[in-house]
Amino acid sequence: MAAHDNPLIDLHTHSDRSDGTLAPAALVALAAARGVSLLALTDHDTIAGCDAARAACDAAGIRFIAGIELSTSWRGQAVHVVGLDVDAASPAVAAHADAIARRRRERVQAICERLAVRGRLPGREIAARALAGAAVPTRMHLARALLALGFATGTQDAFDRWLKPGRPGHVPVEWPALADTLARLGAACRATVLAHPHRYRLSGGALRQLTAEFTAAGGTALEVSLAGMSPNDHERIAALARSHGLAGSVGSDFHDPAARWNPPGRFAKLADGITLVSECIAASR
Ligand code: AMP
Ligand code: MN
Ligand code: MN
Ligand code: MN
Repeated sequence: MAAHDNPLIDLHTHSDRSDGTLAPAALVALAAARGVSLLALTDHDTIAGCDAARAACDAAGIRFIAGIELSTSWRGQAVHVVGLDVDAASPAVAAHADAIARRRRERVQAICERLAVRGRLPGREIAARALAGAAVPTRMHLARALLALGFATGTQDAFDRWLKPGRPGHVPVEWPALADTLARLGAACRATVLAHPHRYRLSGGALRQLTAEFTAAGGTALEVSLAGMSPNDHERIAALARSHGLAGSVGSDFHDPAARWNPPGRFAKLADGITLVSECIAASR
């Protein structure tokens, strides 16, 4: 069957406006070639790519949802919330983007100072490269800089060798609290999704508490189906969504065509009894 005979939904993707490698229009072209019929661009902490992505989707006949992947903290760990159908005129969204971008730039400097002191690496050079042209500088930009300068064999190696907890360049970061973020930004998004719940290092009990807090704060859905998710994780997260009366979201978390396992439009099979979050958005219009 041709890709076009099998319409696909992807509600979690990144462009080069955050830590993806493709410009929004190139991401849309790839999604169109793969038969995606409904696409959300969900860059980290910015909606800067959404106008370009929407124009490309309109031209390609793809339904588009403006999204954002919000960095938050919950009990000392980073937790991501995907906001869907974001109000581009919301001052709260702009304030979030500005505050996070500032914190991210400071964090890149702090990480590079540690890389210099503890890892004996050329911190200034790494920082300059990571920050060059990056509106939302992430650790992925640092990983690419470390790779380009010959201090890692790949971006995963850069994380494993230099950036992750226990490594010379690890700097703990505090993002705005989950509940505060939902309180400030919830009204600017038609739906909010707790991103990749299966990836957090949490016990089953803690994940239930996180889900309960997310639900109480007005959250809409859990990301129940992602590219590469195991059937076991999918069932576990789908059960969590059902027990909390939450909808489900699906996506690839696409960043880079070189990562062949999560192209736009790829996600795990959706379990029965889960309402797609895009249907909630359509119903609230
Ligand atoms: P951050 O700057 O902490 O928001 O991280 C930015 C991005 O780096 C994440 O969105 C992922 O795309 C990637 N990332 C984070 N941790 C890892 C890891 N341990 N291995 C590979 N990629 C990672
Ligand atoms: Mn990312
Ligand atoms: Mn994420
Ligand atoms: Mn993501």
